[in-house]
Amino acid sequence: MKAIVVHEFGGPEVLKLEEVPTPRPEAGQVLVRIHAAGVNPYDTYMRNGTYAIKPPLPYTPGSDAAGVVEAVGEGVTKVKRGDRVYTAKTLTGAYAEYALALESQVHPLPAKITFAQGAGVWVPYGTAYYALYQRTKARASETLLVHGASGGVGIAAVQIARAMGMTVLGTAGTDKGLELVKREGAHHVFDHTKPDYLEQILKTTGGLGVNLILEMLANVNLGSDLKLLATHGRVVVIGSRGDVTISPRDIMSRRGSILAFSLWAITEAEEKEIHAAIFAGLENGTQRPVVGKEIPLAEAPRAHKEVLERGAFGKIVLVP
Ligand code: NAP
Repeated sequence: MKAIVVHEFGGPEVLKLEEVPTPRPEAGQVLVRIHAAGVNPYDTYMRNGTYAIKPPLPYTPGSDAAGVVEAVGEGVTKVKRGDRVYTAKTLTGAYAEYALALESQVHPLPAKITFAQGAGVWVPYGTAYYALYQRTKARASETLLVHGASGGVGIAAVQIARAMGMTVLGTAGTDKGLELVKREGAHHVFDHTKPDYLEQILKTTGGLGVNLILEMLANVNLGSDLKLLATHGRVVVIGSRGDVTISPRDIMSRRGSILAFSLWAITEAEEKEIHAAIFAGLENGTQRPVVGKEIPLAEAPRAHKEVLERGAFGKIVLVP
């Protein structure tokens, strides 16, 4: 089979398309024929060798894929050959024609969700669900700011929060992104490249501030987020690419909180809840992954460049 293989940590050019043996499922394992693989920003940090998780070399990147079960190992009962599935992590990497996964890492993909959409399920929807329901206990009627709403996690959060009954404010950095965020459920949208957008957000809340912020770029925004919080408001740090200075008094005066998490560290019980909620959301149409770009697997280096560029529009997926 063809797979992207990383032999040394470095820039996008270390992603090489190679011919490698197709894996065979052992007991408790599932072989998935991949139709699309999701590109997440963490894939690029891991490739650089700068991420908290450093895989042993060589490795094939990717945790998110969608496809069809090709074969199952002994004892597997959850899925059978021919089933449509999405993956939440794999054993051998998602940037390939086939991936081996544990039975617990494959999940049914509803018929109305395309494979490209299925590749944008796990990290984006898992993160958005965890942030809203499990980490911050978001409630209907609360006002939410999705700071960075045009990308994979942001769109998922906008859809889930809108369906929950929150008032949703979202930001993007391009007109196309702003339109998408509005279309997917935000009540109000703001351009995070405009100098006065923070004032506009505060004005939209009648000066009261927002109850909850999902922050995709904390190193840039955490300091100003604190000034946007209502009393007892909370910020949850989802993404950050560096250090930031904050004024603790902004939290003190609002009795606010800064929360954070990593999807890698959630418990089995939390993950079980997330997959059940994702399946229901995909089925009932409240979770609708948006695919902005489909890129051939061989062009994975381009996908890694583009996922870090401005102008996000939902997900970038690789097609083997
Ligand atoms: P993505 O699809 O690349 O989207 C990035 C988002 O950030 C876009 O909406 C982009 O908007 C926005 N952005 C750019 N500049 C911004 C600014 N100055 N202020 C606010 N937002 C800005 O990435 P993603 O998959 O949604 O992930 C978002 C972040 O969360 C990444 O850093 C990722 O590594 C992290 N993450 C963390 C976890 C976790 O477990 N904690 C899980 C998943 C993702 P425009 O392009 O429209 O400007």
